[in-house]
Amino acid sequence: MDYQRLIVCHECDLLFRKPADVKRHRAACSRCGAGFAALPGCALSLDWICAVTLAALIVFCIAQSFPLIEMHANGMTSEATLFGAVRSLWFGDMRVVAVMVLCSAVLFPLIELLALLYVLVPLRLGIRPPHFNAMVRLVQIVRPWGMVEVFMLGVLVTIVKMVSIAQVIPGPGLFALGTLTVMLGVVASFDPSGLWAISEEIRRSRMAHVRWSKVSTGRQRFMRPSGARKASSSTAITARRAGLVGCHACGLVQTRSERDAHQRCTRCQHVLHERRPDSLTRTASLLLAAAIAYIPANLLPIMHASSVGGSEDDTILGGVAYFWTSGDWPLAVVVFIASVLVPVLKLVVLTLLTVAASRGSGWRARERATLYRLVERIGPWSMLDVFVVALTVTLVHFGSLAVITAGPAALAFGAVVILTMLASHQFDPRLIWDNVGPGPRAASTANDKALAAPLLKNPISEKDDASFQSIQT
Ligand SMILES: [Zn+2]
Ligand SMILES: [Zn+2]
Repeated sequence: MDYQRLIVCHECDLLFRKPADVKRHRAACSRCGAGFAALPGCALSLDWICAVTLAALIVFCIAQSFPLIEMHANGMTSEATLFGAVRSLWFGDMRVVAVMVLCSAVLFPLIELLALLYVLVPLRLGIRPPHFNAMVRLVQIVRPWGMVEVFMLGVLVTIVKMVSIAQVIPGPGLFALGTLTVMLGVVASFDPSGLWAISEEIRRSRMAHVRWSKVSTGRQRFMRPSGARKASSSTAITARRAGLVGCHACGLVQTRSERDAHQRCTRCQHVLHERRPDSLTRTASLLLAAAIAYIPANLLPIMHASSVGGSEDDTILGGVAYFWTSGDWPLAVVVFIASVLVPVLKLVVLTLLTVAASRGSGWRARERATLYRLVERIGPWSMLDVFVVALTVTLVHFGSLAVITAGPAALAFGAVVILTMLASHQFDPRLIWDNVGPGPRAASTANDKALAAPLLKNPISEKDDASFQSIQT
């Protein structure tokens, strides 16, 4: 069955027809505003993304090998590399935090780059490499957990923090890390789910010499064609209602099997879910665990400083208060937002979404969908404090003169970040829309009209049900 011409919104389940001509068109769902990935024809050269990925891999090696920061104090010198930070945490009996830093700042970005190159280079030559499905899935799985940009901010915060007590010199690794952050931003704008369509075309045509140079980008934004037909609230239909399901990994729309609970995608073999099973229970459990871990994260010391003058414990809020009173208020604001505000915001928003979804509420669905996307996006930034602790512990290691070690709150705080990120991944955003009605909201103002303009031509209408039947049979 060919549903190639259909596309389903991964956040609200609405069905759309793919436009015939999507060149340079970037689209978002007219009902929930989610960006559409894997539209063929959104031109981004495969050569270009191959080159950026390869360059990012080289810069990655440089950033890992050279010191990020050098510090001189009382005639003694210390330096911090990324591996050095992991090593200090590991030998300072903070092994779980060491593994968190290693995975988020080193391992996951490296896996993403290597796996991408593994699939991109052969595809560029018109070959589908072995284990293609597993490799593209791997890129999709590790991508949200790579936090190089947060680590970069952590290095900057550490420099500002240290500059008042010692002479701090940025190392060559820092410039490489800055470049890497920009390059990974470009790589992240590339949506790997579009690769399945390319590999399928290659397989179908069986022409190994065919070269593919255009693939879709993941960067989508609102496209508001002035002359587009308006989708009224009665015309649209969801995939669930049409008896279809969209693959979460590759986006392919296919018929839902009522009997097979473990139905797999015909293209990428990913398990298909009409709605993620036990989504609300899992989200609620993870949120509860995160809320419990948030208490010791704030009450216990995150760093322990001992010097000739005595020893001192530092909590997260104590650190923010110290920066504020010592005049470093921009630093105080950054640390407060990342370490206090963002985790609380994530907990509150996800609790609100879970409660509203479990009650089947249709209240302000579009706003709730926007909040969900916000939580997904800001998730990794609260890791900032953990990175700052890791770097500070590495730098301030002057024998009997002054030593800083990580406190138990670092572990609790890392747990909060990971648990809230897991909770937001477990939440199925389609639950927000299940009781809203199938169509886009009625357009009342001029601006609303533009928003409701069907970006991918029109959502599939109920009038098309007959044609659906013919496709299905
Ligand atoms: Zn949508
Ligand atoms: Zn699939």
